[in-house]
Amino acid sequence: MTKPRALVTGASRGIGAAIAKDLAAAGHAVILNYRSNDEAAGAVAKAITDAGGEVKLAKFDVGDHAATHAAIAELLASDERPIGVLVNNAGIARDNVFPAMKMDEWHAVMRTTLDGFYNVTQPLAMPMMRKRWGRIINISSVSGVNGTRGQVNYSAAKAGIIGATKALAKECAKRKVTVNCVAPGLIETEMIADVRMDIVKPMIPMQRVGKPEEVSSLVAFLATDAASYITGQVIGVNGGMA
Ligand code: NDP
Repeated sequence: MTKPRALVTGASRGIGAAIAKDLAAAGHAVILNYRSNDEAAGAVAKAITDAGGEVKLAKFDVGDHAATHAAIAELLASDERPIGVLVNNAGIARDNVFPAMKMDEWHAVMRTTLDGFYNVTQPLAMPMMRKRWGRIINISSVSGVNGTRGQVNYSAAKAGIIGATKALAKECAKRKVTVNCVAPGLIETEMIADVRMDIVKPMIPMQRVGKPEEVSSLVAFLATDAASYITGQVIGVNGGMA
């Protein structure tokens, strides 16, 4: 049987790129979403096709409801294969200590993470439920589980995603659509380029940051039939941090 298509948001770099590659290697035709970096997205797409996989680029800002709505309608209309796997990975950080946090830093993070979750997931959930098969995997963070100083906005958004995951899992369970969160600790991507390693490494029991592939392997597993009884869960990938 043909595997369903898999949409991965924020897949031009970092964790999302690793997830897109793993899902393509598992036989899913991957829809690779990104916001701005055409060159990076093209390089990921080339790596996927060079490895024998199928990929389609889909450039849209997940925080923009109209743009996302139009893009998903086009993706559904242009190919009869269902989108059965959705990975909500797109995310940004705008760190600041809370007393200095500006409203645009607060809103930018909420818009990408929480509006992005709604904008992408809402039009895809019902088609999955009708098919009686689906995998929705949301990338949260150790910050959403524990809270991190300097990241009140990011921690709130990532905790919100955990609540949304648990509620949606309950709504979808009877229709064989699973909804789970993966909560990474510090993972080596551009997002943590400014993080002081000498300060953070001692806080990680494994004394090292993780690799994107150490997150994507779990996401790829959650997308399989073997993970069919796992739903509403938050699974950490954090070297023992939480
Ligand atoms: P990166 O900053 O390396 O990559 C972010 C990706 O998201 C890029 O592909 C970017 O596209 C895309 N993106 C950002 N905003 C939007 C948007 N509005 N619409 C569509 N795409 C968007 O991030 P990581 O790979 O590090 O992070 C991936 C996810 O993992 C995020 O949700 C992050 O919060 C989470 N996470 C990361 C951790 C880490 O330590 N790295 C730890 C815990 C969680 P483009 O380049 O085209 O703008």
